[in-house]
Amino acid sequence: MSSMIAFGPVPSRRLGNSLGINNIPPKTCTYSCVYCQLGRTNKMQVERHIFYNPQNILRAVQDKVNKVKETGVPIDYLTFVPDGEPTLDINLEYEIDLLKFLGIKIAMITNGSLIWRVPEVIGLSYTD
Ligand code: SF4
Repeated sequence: MSSMIAFGPVPSRRLGNSLGINNIPPKTCTYSCVYCQLGRTNKMQVERHIFYNPQNILRAVQDKVNKVKETGVPIDYLTFVPDGEPTLDINLEYEIDLLKFLGIKIAMITNGSLIWRVPEVIGLSYTD
């Protein structure tokens, strides 16, 4: 379970050593791009849902960070870069809050289609 949710770190041109967080089941996305490197979208949706327990995500990332630290490899970013669209996760803001105590910068790779539903992530307050 942990290895599925937290992986890497992988070298990223923009983010340095990036420890990946997979908070979305495979190919659950708001789009189905023909060029997607992950293949065809199995579950196209625009409504946000609960996918994984946020505490399990925290545990998986914390375990991975601890293991990587033992190797002496630095981690520059914790990056939400799942096998789908990360903002579909209704607990995303909560998960980010949980992860902040690790003291590592947090990034997210998103297609931006639902970013208006995730105001805290972009530092805006938003009312419908
Ligand atoms: S938005 Fe990204 S993850 Fe979704 S189908 Fe397109 S390329 Fe794939």
